[in-house]
Amino acid sequence: MAPGRSGHAVVIGASLAGILAARVLADSYERVTVLDRDDLPGVEQRRGAPQGRHLHGLMERGRRIIEDLFPGLTAELADLGAPTTEVLIRSRWYLSGLRVHPTPTGLTTVLASRPLLESTLRARTAALPGVAFRSRVAALGLVAAPGDPRRVVGVRVQSAGAGVEVIEADLVVDATGRGSRAPDWLADLGCPRPAEERIDIDLGYASRTYRRRPEHLDGDLGVVVSTMPGWRGGGAIVLEGNRWHVTLGGMLGDHPPLDDAGFRMFASTLPVPDVHQIVSAAEPLDDPVPHRFRGSLRRHYEALVGAPGNFLVVGDAACSLNPVYAQGMTVAAQQSEVLGRCLRAGRDDLARRFHQEAAPLIDLAWRMSTNADLNYPGVEGPRTARVRLTNAYLRRAHIAAHVDPVVARAFMRLANLVEPPASILRPAMMARVLRHGFATSAPVPRPRPAGETARVPVTGV
Ligand SMILES: Cc1cc2nc3c(=O)[nH]c(=O)nc-3n(C[C@H](O)[C@H](O)[C@H](O)COP(=O)(O)OP(=O)(O)OC[C@H]3O[C@@H](n4cnc5c(N)ncnc54)[C@H](O)[C@@H]3O)c2cc1C
Repeated sequence: MAPGRSGHAVVIGASLAGILAARVLADSYERVTVLDRDDLPGVEQRRGAPQGRHLHGLMERGRRIIEDLFPGLTAELADLGAPTTEVLIRSRWYLSGLRVHPTPTGLTTVLASRPLLESTLRARTAALPGVAFRSRVAALGLVAAPGDPRRVVGVRVQSAGAGVEVIEADLVVDATGRGSRAPDWLADLGCPRPAEERIDIDLGYASRTYRRRPEHLDGDLGVVVSTMPGWRGGGAIVLEGNRWHVTLGGMLGDHPPLDDAGFRMFASTLPVPDVHQIVSAAEPLDDPVPHRFRGSLRRHYEALVGAPGNFLVVGDAACSLNPVYAQGMTVAAQQSEVLGRCLRAGRDDLARRFHQEAAPLIDLAWRMSTNADLNYPGVEGPRTARVRLTNAYLRRAHIAAHVDPVVARAFMRLANLVEPPASILRPAMMARVLRHGFATSAPVPRPRPAGETARVPVTGV
């Protein structure tokens, strides 16, 4: 045992947030047990992480944090077949229907499938001293010290084919994702529930994989077409195994169909033809699978008074964000960084310190995501003057990023959570955005014709 490591931490949920929390806890706790009610296979899709079947981009801020926690991970993923590239080089980004200028940004994209990323991280974490993963163990609730609901002493669990048992713990971390029962678990102990915020967007995804040929997309490795009011979105990236992973998406109930013809037709209605060209020319390897995401959901644990000091909530369990902005894994990584810092300062009052220090990071991602959603007239939420002004400015920034590499770089660094919003509001940057953002015109969405006739000519790739 390394000096200073003591006690037992239990992490509930062995997905991205749980794995990253466990990695950090292993520096402080003698034993770390990570429970999941799911099977935890190798590089395979699993029931407990259905989002793994859909496009997952890891933003640069998250990649850097994860690389610090697991040195050599990017190279390891590349060795396992995940293509790695500069964000705007050999990878096409379209914002407001215009291609972002293909310029170096200092940002790396690792095109690993979600199962490859998750299983590689899990294997690295499981190899750490004192860490154990237990699959097919469902957490049922928290156990508090007799007469002291503010001190959790264990987790009540049910293992597959076995009875209910209590796993004793000095610290419990909830990483059970969006469906977290932590508010009920706290209420069962007589503690308050966290306040919740929601922004409903009724996003629908459909995803499919295809065999890739070298001529597809002129050899480029990916294309991302942002979803905008009036425009459907989608993306295609090359994954390990030389496959295309294609995801189509639409907001407010405008969901992609799952039959072959409907899937292609939906792709043809994106503002640019790249994704449609791939799905028209490449050989499908499976059928489209859907995912419905009703809305972003935030639980304010940082504002709870009277909650246990040794029970933390991380990842989607605390904040589940519109996936089109690809922030979730990065916010989980940022929380693991905060957790490490809080633990280095001691264990007293850990939950309050952790939730309060993590809150500004979550706030920023939440604001970026929900402000962008409020661009859609059909999304309900507080459309303050600031939100409207920011959205109008960002629309001009999208257009300017098409022609001005400096704006393109700044915008991508902001979207990758590497630079703060202030970076795109500096006077010199604003001057560029205003100069180029009004000089170029962006395509205007047209109403979709009845029967959804393809807008984009169907051509080979
Ligand atoms: C369609 C979709 C696309 C996305 N795309 C991106 C993207 O491009 N980029 C990005 O950064 N993020 C993306 N995200 C978000 C990202 O998947 C999550 O933010 C990330 O996985 C962190 O989630 P988590 O670990 O907190 O929870 P989850 O990944 O939901 O995992 C929760 C885990 O807890 C387990 N569990 C649940 N209840 C119990 C219980 N009672 N007992 C034991 N175990 C339990 C589950 O089996 C599961 O393994 C996307 C999400 C969706 C839905």
